[in-house]
Amino acid sequence: MSATSHPRNPRGSLVSELLSSYLAGSWFTAADEGRPVLDAVTGEEVCRVSATGADLAGAVDHARSVGVPAIQALTFHERAAILKNVAKHLTAAEDGFYELSARTGATKRDSAVDIDGGIGTVFSFASKATRELPNDTIVLDGKPEALGKGGTFVGQHIYTSRPGVAVQINAFNFPTWGVLEKFAPAFLAGRPTIVKPATQTAYLTHAVVASMLDSGFLPDGALQLLCGSADGLLDLLGTQDHVAFTGSAATASTLRQHPSVVHGGLELGVEADSLNCSILGPDVTPDDPEFDLFVKGVVTEMTVKAGQKCTAIRRVLVPTERADDVISALSQRLSKITVGNPADDTVRMGALVSLDQRDEVRKSVQSLRASSDLVFGDPDHVTVVGASAVDGAFMGPVLLRAHEGATEPHEVEPFGPVSTVITYSSVADAISLAAKGGGSLAGSLVTHDPAVAREVILGVAPWHGRLLVLDRNDASESTGHGSPLPSLVHGGPGRAGGGEELGGIRAVLHHMQRTAIQASPDALTAITGSWFTGAERTVSEQHPFRKSLATLRIGDAIVSDRRTVTGEDIAHFAEFTGDTFYAHTDPEAAAKNPLFGGIVAHGYLVVSLAAGLFVEPNPGPVLANFGVDNLRFLTPVKVDDDIAVTLTVKAITPRSSADYGEVRWDAVVTNQHDEPVATYDVLTLVAKEDA
Ligand code: NDP
Repeated sequence: MSATSHPRNPRGSLVSELLSSYLAGSWFTAADEGRPVLDAVTGEEVCRVSATGADLAGAVDHARSVGVPAIQALTFHERAAILKNVAKHLTAAEDGFYELSARTGATKRDSAVDIDGGIGTVFSFASKATRELPNDTIVLDGKPEALGKGGTFVGQHIYTSRPGVAVQINAFNFPTWGVLEKFAPAFLAGRPTIVKPATQTAYLTHAVVASMLDSGFLPDGALQLLCGSADGLLDLLGTQDHVAFTGSAATASTLRQHPSVVHGGLELGVEADSLNCSILGPDVTPDDPEFDLFVKGVVTEMTVKAGQKCTAIRRVLVPTERADDVISALSQRLSKITVGNPADDTVRMGALVSLDQRDEVRKSVQSLRASSDLVFGDPDHVTVVGASAVDGAFMGPVLLRAHEGATEPHEVEPFGPVSTVITYSSVADAISLAAKGGGSLAGSLVTHDPAVAREVILGVAPWHGRLLVLDRNDASESTGHGSPLPSLVHGGPGRAGGGEELGGIRAVLHHMQRTAIQASPDALTAITGSWFTGAERTVSEQHPFRKSLATLRIGDAIVSDRRTVTGEDIAHFAEFTGDTFYAHTDPEAAAKNPLFGGIVAHGYLVVSLAAGLFVEPNPGPVLANFGVDNLRFLTPVKVDDDIAVTLTVKAITPRSSADYGEVRWDAVVTNQHDEPVATYDVLTLVAKEDA
């Protein structure tokens, strides 16, 4: 490997033939020769991989004793800022990754899915964490649960970080994305990571991890790399640790039977084989735009990354009467796919990752042919552009058509550019065929009929982690069948492994422990840093709107004076706003309203009057009111009722990138009988310091 195609690593030796591992704070290179890894396109040796002699116990201990405290000392927002910087650093180093990626057989477009897709995922998690997580180290889950009538005993679920390590065991097909989509949520959750890449593409993962380490942004112990066998690693893991595995069902099954998983409480997330389907709705004819969308989608999924994608379409479900049209359209498009060296601009599909993988795919095609006919392509021969068809792991796209009642297409996963057309006789039949995959990561339905969309999606959703419904309306913005997105869950039931990754902040929370805390409101306030109803309030001379974040404290409150809501107030508000709903304006009609029995004040009038009662009008640290959450009107306010409001600081979230932060205020409006009339949270932006 040339020095220019691989980043020099100041922490260790220049990466040479034998890939080093980064363990316990230093680079380790095995003493033996290692296993050779060949270029997918040329067959030349790229590097060797070995972990013989690696101190795995030292690495796990380093993660727990150095990584855990270092990450968990940071708030979610601080961790997010680090991720953003790491993602920027990786973006700057992208060219080197692209060069290495080409050696895995990937075209530029394939590499973009892996490299830009991975870096984009880190950016996305950084920004979601800043917007959706508190600037704290714990997360509240849901609302408090009243556990006693007097309000002195309350339940609250919280998420806390675990003192363990996240081990990721990755597949060969996404050497960059696989690392980053797993690392970002684990890091946000406070867990250090040990990356174990698939040997076949470990050289690209090595470059990415080395770049992340070289960025200097990550705390010590946050990220380690093990190139080579992970033998013995799981023996060292337990209850507070997590293994995220992506790869074959066979390896998943071995890992599931590991004593640390079976008896030791080790969490194992699996993303394994998946026989994903795309369904052409019965409403779609060859004249509809949906027909082309369907055909394009299938061809894209067969050819991007040469079909080596866990989300690729393996089963093409079409109405029996459309099969010939679909096969003819697919064949026409597939015939335009040029196969060869990704460095050649005319090439649309690169190589499979290795000759061994090509053998595996050919074997799978052979199995499929037991119950399917080959209708396009030749698994054993392909015209190759710009490379040797003997040395490179090339294979052209292959399309099969299943016989009636075929079982192999629902059981055999050809991990390459191979799909099988399967016909269905009714929507119910399509649903039952989709389910025969035994659980899939992703599925798609192409239809413009809302009734078909509902019936199919409700039928197949229990078998899928993600479903795309494609038609002429969403096609131009659609991200396609095969792209996992940071904000949507990735993972499927059954055969797909049963794991769940991504899905926005869900992915972070998966790494954390949810605990139900039962305590008094004061204790919960102390534990969570958020004010709970019933906890002590601090009412002082100084109005809390006069306090910047430097002096404002949880529990600071104002109890307002009372104000009478008159008939004139209600009539004026109705006239002024145009909200002349009869309950506010027509005494006779209002008297017949079973809930009110007479004229009542508008809810928004009550909230507006409450604002008038609690506001401190002069310029000060409160900069803006940016919303109201959880507004509920509980008791109608009648003419001449007296209302008052109590406003209490519930949560304070300083923004790391601004001179202000968010303050959430608990607002309770009561009437003269002390009954709650309205409850809500007022959201304000408050300066960090007094002007
Ligand atoms: P494997 O399951 O063999 O390997 C996946 C990862 O697991 C690699 O990092 C591998 O390391 C590691 N591994 C293998 N055995 C063990 C073990 N006993 N303990 C711990 N880690 C282990 O899958 P492959 O990458 O070889 O792909 C084989 C097939 O898997 C493909 O043909 C395809 O059918 C399927 N696959 C499915 C994917 C999906 O996302 N659904 C993705 C990729 C593959 P090492 O490389 O060093 O052996």
